[in-house]
Amino acid sequence: MTTADKLIDLRSDTVTAPTKAMRAVMASAPVGDDVYGEDPTVNRLEAQAAELLGFEAAVFAPSGTQSNLLALLSYCQRGDEYIVGQQAHTYKYEGGGAAVLGSIVPQPLEFEADGSLSLERVRQAIKPDDIHFARSRLLCLENTQGGKVLSLDYLQRSAVFAGEHKLALHLDGARVFNAAVSQQVSVAEITQHFDSVSICLSKGLGAPLGSLLCASQEHIVQARRWRKMLGGGMRQAGIVAAAGIYALENNVERLAEDHQHASQLVLGLADIDGVETLAHSNMVFAKVGIVGQKQLPEFLHQRGIRISGGETIRLVTHLDISAQDVSLVVAAFKDFFAANA
Ligand SMILES: *Cc1c(COP(=O)(O)O)cnc(C)c1O
Repeated sequence: MTTADKLIDLRSDTVTAPTKAMRAVMASAPVGDDVYGEDPTVNRLEAQAAELLGFEAAVFAPSGTQSNLLALLSYCQRGDEYIVGQQAHTYKYEGGGAAVLGSIVPQPLEFEADGSLSLERVRQAIKPDDIHFARSRLLCLENTQGGKVLSLDYLQRSAVFAGEHKLALHLDGARVFNAAVSQQVSVAEITQHFDSVSICLSKGLGAPLGSLLCASQEHIVQARRWRKMLGGGMRQAGIVAAAGIYALENNVERLAEDHQHASQLVLGLADIDGVETLAHSNMVFAKVGIVGQKQLPEFLHQRGIRISGGETIRLVTHLDISAQDVSLVVAAFKDFFAANA
């Protein structure tokens, strides 16, 4: 395939296809039955993730939705409550699974402009110990949140806060490696503040699928039971876990390139009248106006560029987007807005 026929897909960093090198390690991975705990590659991935994030144990799950749910189900009983962002993945984008499958009550709060939850508002939302109320049990943060990187200081304060209020603290870290690379810290410097963290291998890290929940040994034992119940107990899963190991070993540092490409895109779009842009780690948000909303996705599709629609469009850079691709996208935007000014 030449560069010209390649589809430039900016809808999400989930769209990456495994590379030849990744497929090679998948093809040769030693495997066993992971429900018996006998898949050496899954065991290696779980141990590696736990160590990298600074936890006792980890469990491999097919998706980030499931690994977040495993955390929620492990911390919260029926009638317990978790406090979460209104736009958080674990509240808004997981089909209400915590309520449907766990009888867990969500208490959503608006995110602040920086992607954090105001600890003062969380404090106000915590229910007193009273038979009228659900039991506030867990605080769930997201990092990155819409690409926004939470400050290390905020994470530290959240951990102290959660301890004071006897809340467990979970991080939806689907893109926590983007945060670590942005802040130039080890991922453990971020994850040390949490009781549990879920990470995605299938976003910027470029694996075809897979997620890990990292926590204490005790919680991972419970999470394994829930995983089996939810149908996430996989057999020779080493074939995909191998892609995860490859991703953790090869694709973390390179996330910096995705962030550079996002900045390059913002810079390129900056002088177009009618477009306002902003970048957070690997995500660019572009306000494109009414005409852009109606016609831009189709116009770009004709040029081999895929974007999600909307008045503010989210453009996500990833492993399969090169600097040259970004230049092509900028040129296509310029053509569109020159013709539709
Ligand atoms: C993608 C994502 C997840 C997990 O999604 P799956 O598609 O189930 O793997 C969780 N949280 C956030 C913030 C995400 O972006």
